[in-house]
Amino acid sequence: MTLCPNCSKPMAPGFLGSESFVGGSKWFLERTRLAFGGEEVSKPNAFGMVYLAGFRCRECKTLLLRY
Ligand SMILES: [Zn+2]
Repeated sequence: MTLCPNCSKPMAPGFLGSESFVGGSKWFLERTRLAFGGEEVSKPNAFGMVYLAGFRCRECKTLLLRY
């Protein structure tokens, strides 16, 4: 079982899905206006979707994602 790093309660497994037709999901060190830069962490599939596997804590609304 994965425990929340924030509140130590059990986390539920799942996927974060997002539409991303261009460039996949990127990780940014800070927010940029037009999403320039960033390091790609996951490529979109043939349908333009990105899925990142991870865990969610409903208690404190924390997401723990793997790539
Ligand atoms: Zn939590």
